[in-house]
Amino acid sequence: MSSYRVFMTSKLARETIILMLGAPGVGKGTYSRMLSKDLNLSELSTGDELRLLVKQNNSADPTIESINSIMKAGKLVDDKYMIDLVKDRIKREKYSRGMILDGFPRNLTQAKEFGNIKWMNLVVKIKLEEEILVRKLLGRRVCVNCGKGYNVCNIQEGEYDMEPLLPEKNADKCDVCDGMLVKRSDDVESVIRERIRLYEEMTQPLEEYYADKMVTFEPKKGIKDYPILLKTVLDNLKL
Ligand code: AMP
Repeated sequence: MSSYRVFMTSKLARETIILMLGAPGVGKGTYSRMLSKDLNLSELSTGDELRLLVKQNNSADPTIESINSIMKAGKLVDDKYMIDLVKDRIKREKYSRGMILDGFPRNLTQAKEFGNIKWMNLVVKIKLEEEILVRKLLGRRVCVNCGKGYNVCNIQEGEYDMEPLLPEKNADKCDVCDGMLVKRSDDVESVIRERIRLYEEMTQPLEEYYADKMVTFEPKKGIKDYPILLKTVLDNLKL
């Protein structure tokens, strides 16, 4: 167990909820996973939850089939469905100490509903330029099994120094569980642009809504900048 983890396990006595905010491709999932380990807080990714429902939809439930089509088009799933899903998931024991939210709330309606039941402690806004986001999403690979993310693109220009994030053992298999690495079906350029547009229209207003608890992080060096993020989070959690 890392020293941060021991520290945080003893310090986070009350429920702690952190929201990772940022356009598709900024690395919310990757940073959530890293923070989750160091803060010993479980992550809740609504995108992962939906992908799991789609994967397990053997009985061809029409609601899940329609969610699959919405996701493939890069649109947003119905608010009521998402709010009910989150209300259900947060009852799980692993979220009893709090959580790191990735992908929810995604608009003001969801944020207000969530605010009726839980207190958001900290919002971390991650930002990157749009063209960098597109390149990162086109290079993204995810494990079909556990969802861990990798990236084949190498961005070295200006202040950007983002090396590929490749598996160490096999080129096309996950280091953690040996699952196949694939492209997400919504990681195609037209859908990526639509997701970024929807982020600006629907999710960006949350920056104002959460302004008093938001910190901004611009990871120009990819995961090499993670220590800066961790320090920012620790400094701002007001333990
Ligand atoms: P993500 O993994 O966060 O990029 O989410 C993938 C897709 O799942 C999104 O493009 C939406 O179609 C859907 N989705 C995830 N979270 C939400 C949410 N909070 N509200 C509506 N749709 C969502």
